[in-house]
Amino acid sequence: MVQEPIIDDGIIIMLISIVVPVYNEQDVMPHLFHALSEVLSHIDHEHEIIIVNDGSRDGTADWVRRHAATDDRIKLVNFSRNFGQQAAMTAGLDCARGDVVVVMDCDLQDPPELLQRMLDKYSEGYDVVSCRRISRAGESWFKKKTASVFYGLMRKAIDSRIPAEVGDFRLFSRNAVDAIRAFREQHRFMRGLVAWLGLREAFIEFDRPARVAGETKYPVSKLIKLAWTAISSSSTVPLRACVYAGWALLACGLLATVAVPLAVLQWLPLSVATMGWTAFQLSLAGIQLVAVGLIGDYVGRIFEESKQRPLYIVSETCNVEIPSDSSRSVWMLERPRVTAPGSVEERDGNILRIPTQAPRRAA
Ligand code: UDP
Ligand code: MG
Repeated sequence: MVQEPIIDDGIIIMLISIVVPVYNEQDVMPHLFHALSEVLSHIDHEHEIIIVNDGSRDGTADWVRRHAATDDRIKLVNFSRNFGQQAAMTAGLDCARGDVVVVMDCDLQDPPELLQRMLDKYSEGYDVVSCRRISRAGESWFKKKTASVFYGLMRKAIDSRIPAEVGDFRLFSRNAVDAIRAFREQHRFMRGLVAWLGLREAFIEFDRPARVAGETKYPVSKLIKLAWTAISSSSTVPLRACVYAGWALLACGLLATVAVPLAVLQWLPLSVATMGWTAFQLSLAGIQLVAVGLIGDYVGRIFEESKQRPLYIVSETCNVEIPSDSSRSVWMLERPRVTAPGSVEERDGNILRIPTQAPRRAA
């Protein structure tokens, strides 16, 4: 027998924080705000839009300021200079208050229309919802090619956990945000940090449109810098490469050394002096490279320690009291239940109808 539905006024509507790093994007801002308000007006949750102005020298900040004056859900975080998109995203995550946080580019290449699908995935229990580009409109052959080489290299040599063709357009649960905030290293690559966390991640595929206005803020020099940050912050492989090269040279040197007595016995058509010098040079170069590489290995460990990353991430516990003094570790709290307005569900033996009207956020 179906019981009388219980109307629960206390259902929590989430706060969604939209974090957008911007750099000299005054032409894009009207398009962004128009698209965001259209999409958010159809979503039964509260929202805040955090624009992190990464040292723009055009009218971007003024534009946001004007809109923030009439709508306190629009927030501006102004950097004193250009610190880069990675720092801007970090500042956005630091001040976001949302139960979920969505990070997106401002140029509508990350379509706000995907927001509802991302929220649906979040409701299924994922902590990270990432958007994967299956096509890229309006980008040069060079950019597409270098991007695919970059992702290939990252996944093969550096960190196979970094998904291909996934940029920074992502939804994070509050737990994921708190975990990412535990990383305080200076040279950071958000995609690498998210991969390192290993949280439950869902993917949504989309066709990436062209920029709505303006030019890319990533000239080749900035792209190379970002690629190097991605590699060097995620791994010490380049340091270890020295050791491998050294061992290879040393092995060649030993082979040449073995060949010296053969040359002395005239079993090989090579002069003893040539073979001797070759063996000596190769072995010396090999020993030197191995030594440099070993020093590099220790430097790598210092580098890893200096980042002060958390030692581990606990994504779920059952009946465990979370230690209050476990520094350099992340213990995630059970997240509040999200319920779709209008749905009916059973809870503790009662049938519960979730109000269709957007209830207010609990104080
Ligand atoms: N951006 C930023 N700081 C920078 C460069 C870019 O905050 O130093 C922002 C930019 O305004 C945009 C996002 O990062 O919102 C992505 O930049 P862009 O669209 O130029 O990159 P692309 O899509 O061309 O790779
Ligand atoms: Mg773009």
